[in-house]
Amino acid sequence: MPAEATQTYFRRGFGLKAQVAPVIETEYHSGIVERIRSRGYADHFGEVTVRLAKHFGFCYGVDRAIDYAYETRLQFPDKRVFLVGEIIHNPHVNHRIVECGIEVVSPRQGVFDFSNVTPDDVVIIPAFGVTLGDMKRLREIGCVLVDTTCGSVLLVWKRVHGYARDGYTAVIHGKYAHEESRATASQVTKYPGGRYIIVRDMAEAEVVGEYMTAAPGAPSREEFVRRFEGRCSDGFDPDEDLGKVGVANQTTMLATESLAIAGRLRGMMAEAFGEAHAEENFRSFDTICSATQERQDAVLELMEDHPPDVMVVVGGYNSSNTNHLAHLCREYTASYHIADSACIDTATGWIRHKPELDPDAPEVVTREWLPPGPFVLGITAGASTPNNKIGEALVRVLEIRGIDPKR
Ligand code: SF4
Repeated sequence: MPAEATQTYFRRGFGLKAQVAPVIETEYHSGIVERIRSRGYADHFGEVTVRLAKHFGFCYGVDRAIDYAYETRLQFPDKRVFLVGEIIHNPHVNHRIVECGIEVVSPRQGVFDFSNVTPDDVVIIPAFGVTLGDMKRLREIGCVLVDTTCGSVLLVWKRVHGYARDGYTAVIHGKYAHEESRATASQVTKYPGGRYIIVRDMAEAEVVGEYMTAAPGAPSREEFVRRFEGRCSDGFDPDEDLGKVGVANQTTMLATESLAIAGRLRGMMAEAFGEAHAEENFRSFDTICSATQERQDAVLELMEDHPPDVMVVVGGYNSSNTNHLAHLCREYTASYHIADSACIDTATGWIRHKPELDPDAPEVVTREWLPPGPFVLGITAGASTPNNKIGEALVRVLEIRGIDPKR
């Protein structure tokens, strides 16, 4: 029997890239985005000057995950193919994946139900990865696994493994509800006694630092446990488990904040116990992925000197990296985070958008959002947004102004 016939774990696709590439290109390509890109990331449409961030949209991890999902459908035409959760955080792409005949296994109260999966099925693991527990259950089922976990996520896991192995508690800068953070946190369980705690932002990191150093104003043990309930490893004891810490982050957080958190925690430890102590008991690695960094840097470049009058950021509201791009833009100019082009109503000229960083913040409608007369429109998109969705949003803005985008 050939080896492929018994292989049940795939991480490198099936050599079908040439077949799926034209399909993916057709589904997610945008002529207007290519036109702006080819003209140096800026173009004029009547009275609207459009400036596109130099790095935007699909990242290498997303490209790969989508490619493998399409390849999987081709490779196993007669098998049921499942996807654990969402392939990426974009409703349009997930919808297309379902239309290809791939079934989604949804979480119930944060737990995936694999009871419907049999050894004859194929299961795709998304770019964010899955928890060690979910991976174990899938392996026990014996189904074929197509693992699209991004290499940059695997790199974070490697750091977290090192922390757990060497007795450091992993302090993870991330969002507990995000698949990637949960998968990353679960990696500590690879080693007996592995510990983690997830902090959402600098304010929470400060609380951890205060408790760690018994600083004046530090919360009581009860307050600390209540505050981080559900965001620590089982049996986490703040009195025992904050002696040695290592910082890691969800790959799509705001890079500057992740670095600041690591610096702050180390500084607090050094101030309280001395430099030599911090040298020995604190570790940190910047695990923001290069795609996230490039997109954030490109926004900052766009904002340098003369920020656009209006900035539109396109991407799913549950997309961490899109939320952070929008958050960055808000510091410089009027910015609108939209899930897709349907948020721009060409009949009324209004825009429906999420005005805050929190993925669950409600949308609001803004009526007068475009300046009168000529203006500069900036545009970018998160790593999970296909170009066609960027292009559609742009066309709608031009339509509000009665501009034919083809001219
Ligand atoms: S955002 Fe970064 S870590 Fe996430 S899939 Fe893309 S390249 Fe990988």
